[in-house]
Amino acid sequence: MSSSDRKSGQFVVPGKRLGVIEEFMAGPGTFVEHGTIYSKTTGRALLDMLNKKASVYPLVHAVNTPRIGSTVIGEVSDVRNKNAGLRILIIGKRQLSGFFTGILHVSDVSSTYIETMYSVCKSGDLMRAKVVSCLNRTNHLSTEDKSLGVIYAFCSRCGHLLQLRREDMWCPKCANVEMRKVAQDYGSVII
Ligand SMILES: [Zn+2]
Repeated sequence: MSSSDRKSGQFVVPGKRLGVIEEFMAGPGTFVEHGTIYSKTTGRALLDMLNKKASVYPLVHAVNTPRIGSTVIGEVSDVRNKNAGLRILIIGKRQLSGFFTGILHVSDVSSTYIETMYSVCKSGDLMRAKVVSCLNRTNHLSTEDKSLGVIYAFCSRCGHLLQLRREDMWCPKCANVEMRKVAQDYGSVII
């Protein structure tokens, strides 16, 4: 292995050869096979020449993907009777570069019974939701909390931002009245 091959800080994938046990101790994120130290995880290699130790630190923070419990903000892409699809734009406070989608089923909208998704959100709305399951690589979302739901809704007739009234949503431009499941900070969220 040439010295340029084992620069500290390089990005490594599982199985990447880091060195041999004569040179290094096997640190966290590594494993040894037949006297050779390999990376066990995707991350940054740290070859500590002083203490003769090879470690790999996983890139947990750099790869920003939805997980169970993540709060996400997404744009509603399509609405059907019993579920809606979201294109996830933000996870936590971070904007995403990758493409992630989520599904919100009508039973996960609220703790009270909701008959149809058409009274919950419309295509083009921005919604805050929580990831409750990532089963089969699908991000299943929930809005069962006061802080969750639609944060910006647009009139399905003219596209104007809807105003929240006590019982419903109202379009100041064309006077259209619509329904949404809104988050408690509807209309005041800075993204
Ligand atoms: Zn309108």
